[in-house]
Amino acid sequence: MTKTSAPLDKFQPETQVVLAGRDPFRFEGFVNTPIWRGSTVLKPTIEAYNNRATARYTYGTYGTPTTDALETAWSAISKAAGTVLVPSGLAAVAVALQSCLKAGDHLLVTDSVYRPTRNFCESFLKRFGVETTYYDPLIGAGITSLMRANTTAVFTEAPGSQSFEMQDIPAIAKAAHDHGAVCLMDNTWATPLLFPPHERGVDLAIEAGTKYLSGHSDLLLGLVSANERCWPALRQTFDSMSICAGPEDVFLGLRGLRTMVLRVKEAGWRGLEMARWFEARPEVKAVLHPALPSHPGHALWKRDFLGATGLFSIILHPVSPAALAAMVDGLDLFGIGASWGGYESLVLPFDCTPYRTATPWEPGGPTLRFQIGLEDIGDLQRDLAAGFDRLKAAS
Ligand SMILES: *Cc1c(COP(=O)(O)O)cnc(C)c1O
Repeated sequence: MTKTSAPLDKFQPETQVVLAGRDPFRFEGFVNTPIWRGSTVLKPTIEAYNNRATARYTYGTYGTPTTDALETAWSAISKAAGTVLVPSGLAAVAVALQSCLKAGDHLLVTDSVYRPTRNFCESFLKRFGVETTYYDPLIGAGITSLMRANTTAVFTEAPGSQSFEMQDIPAIAKAAHDHGAVCLMDNTWATPLLFPPHERGVDLAIEAGTKYLSGHSDLLLGLVSANERCWPALRQTFDSMSICAGPEDVFLGLRGLRTMVLRVKEAGWRGLEMARWFEARPEVKAVLHPALPSHPGHALWKRDFLGATGLFSIILHPVSPAALAAMVDGLDLFGIGASWGGYESLVLPFDCTPYRTATPWEPGGPTLRFQIGLEDIGDLQRDLAAGFDRLKAAS
């Protein structure tokens, strides 16, 4: 801690991200916790070595002051019992699922899930004897009807990072708990700043730190936070797999954390402004952004979320692939690429049709996902307006 010795939970999240994980006078007064690189941790005597299990630091994979700092901070803003740091968002999904599943278990996963999570279930988990059923993202409390005697975990993601279907997380968490199962959530879109996962009933919350924690498209990092119920198993699984994030990456995560509130706020109003602009365009059939009143999940978003970030999708009225390419390929300010949460704008053509299994995805036109960066909004709109002109010309 810095000057104050007051517990972190006395403060609002905006203050927590400034204070948490810092102890300047332990590090000669320098503001930031330094990068600790290390494998071996020396002990002064045989006795101390034999008692190393009781020491805070025993070996690099089990933690350093650098990893402690980010874990402490993330647990504070997530109101979690504990957090582990892993090398990517997908690794966070994997370690979270492995911490609560065993051979013979049944897992329920939202049909709108991040696609590599689906691949993990279909390849890895299947091979280890876990059966996955995909469910309608809008199922809510109705998920009880899909529970089997061996259903031990329910995986949620809200909103889905392409289709933007909103889920009733508290209702699904309650149904899971009534059944004795664990509720997991991929909370990458909202971050704990806009959706405090454990207060809404989530047991294991996953964040791709690659996105808003990084904010600069230069970092891969994953975080899993757990409540009291799931923390011991999460930490034990993490330790036994030893998939620890590297010290430079953790340091960059800490650096991102300090300005994350500002960047998430900017993403929120910028995304919504751009979503409204798209909604007024005749070429656009629908805008999939939960903060728009036209979105079917708007009421849930309003009830459970504290804001929105800068990622949303649009459905265009049907156009030829050539016309779509003329629009998208010629954009100056929107890079064509996956991932998001950086300072720069992105566009991604996507199609959920081939892999949805529980509910068909029938958008009725080409779909594009937008990540809105920190560029001037007018510049972004002029770039897109020129894109729509090209689309019309090529139609
Ligand atoms: C990007 C992303 C992940 C995975 O993060 P990586 O660090 O790229 O592995 C997981 N879930 C969602 C929703 C994401 O957008």
